[in-house]
Amino acid sequence: MEIKNAWEKYNDDNFKVVMDFAEGYKKFITDAKTERECVTEAVAICEANGYVNLDTYIAEGKEIKTGDKVYVTNMKKNLLAFKIGSVPFEKGINILGAHIDSPRIDLKQNPLYEDTELALLDTHYYGGIKKYQWVTLPLALHGVVVKKDGSSVNFVVGEDANDPVLVISDLLPHLSAGQMKKSASEIIDGEDLNVLIGSIPLKGEEKEKVKGYMKKILKDKYNFEEDDFISAEIEVVPAGAARDLGLDASMVIGYGHDDRVCAYSSLLALLEAGDLERTGCCFLVDKEEVGSQGATGAHSAFFENTIAEIMALMGVDSNLKVRRALANSKMLSSDVSAAFDPNYASVNERKNTAYFSKGLALNKYTGSRGKGGCNDANAEFVGQVRAIMDNNGVTWQTAELGRVDAGGGGTIACISANYGMEVIDSGVPVLNMHAPWEVISKVDLYEAKQGYLAFLKDAK
Ligand code: MN
Ligand code: MN
Repeated sequence: MEIKNAWEKYNDDNFKVVMDFAEGYKKFITDAKTERECVTEAVAICEANGYVNLDTYIAEGKEIKTGDKVYVTNMKKNLLAFKIGSVPFEKGINILGAHIDSPRIDLKQNPLYEDTELALLDTHYYGGIKKYQWVTLPLALHGVVVKKDGSSVNFVVGEDANDPVLVISDLLPHLSAGQMKKSASEIIDGEDLNVLIGSIPLKGEEKEKVKGYMKKILKDKYNFEEDDFISAEIEVVPAGAARDLGLDASMVIGYGHDDRVCAYSSLLALLEAGDLERTGCCFLVDKEEVGSQGATGAHSAFFENTIAEIMALMGVDSNLKVRRALANSKMLSSDVSAAFDPNYASVNERKNTAYFSKGLALNKYTGSRGKGGCNDANAEFVGQVRAIMDNNGVTWQTAELGRVDAGGGGTIACISANYGMEVIDSGVPVLNMHAPWEVISKVDLYEAKQGYLAFLKDAK
């Protein structure tokens, strides 16, 4: 199947639309490097577009009607937004689901220590990273510190031009004879991902003077004490902004494309949707990179509870009808695909691989070793999605994650499919996936948004 390069669709008149869409996206991923920051940004975007918090409807006992725009958050790490359509919920809604957590390095609960008059922070990495990629890079800290009195401090270091950055050290080549003999998975030990944060001793202190000075800075500049790390969530992420990549600026290099590139394009598609027949929904979830468990992962009851709340506010307070709504829904699990990399061609099978500039990638199934753990979208549903994409002039492709038995992976698709709804994975191809700096194509980002919009409008 020959798929035309999507750039060829764009001429002098509409080329700028593609490039401009990426500008908004670059700003989003530069500002939002944690799931909490993604929710904060998404709420701001929703409110600026006339979306009203579901809690307001509930508090006021206000009816939800066709055309209403509603959002709700969960524990500051999930967001659900709805554009209410004219078709009753029990006939099903059209869902775009993406995750907003990305691989990173988290601080431990007791992170701060001093060794040889250097102050460091101890960490535990989050998600599937190649640990050797995260050393010798300028790093930032993003997170929240909650104190015993319930107040909290937003803690961000390393993003402002005047801010210092941090680093995890690596060994010089001169002394790496032993290290270089290790396998790549062992070359950096997980316990050695320690972040260097300071080296000046505190005057007047007897021992651990450098740690003492760090504690003073935390108190004076950032307004929290060492003990407060215990109730903090602080993520170590690459410092700096997303940037154009390539002499033609056709790509974006940034942190956390997986899966904020699909989260952003899904949310923007919902905002752009006009009057809908079936209700359109954008679901942004946490914890995908570690298995989707917990109160903020896709396994949480948050999604179905919210459907029940909304239906009740539409006058349908029926458990059976909530179940029908879930089973009759259709979903694009908006998650990224591995882009074909000419440097590493051997891990792919060229006919069934996602390529840059070939648009939105549909993954009928994911999984590994004989499709283990996959969602496998029904052929009938794939047929419907194909038709929607073609009818709306969206450039799209099909892909699977690598050659058979090369590896594999999963998404939230199989979790939502447990409700009995039709779900297929669909997303933007990413190079360097799970590395500190990942790469996407601007035209694929735009085609994804167009594909998501078409799905919201036309899926039945
Ligand atoms: Mn993902
Ligand atoms: Mn991932």
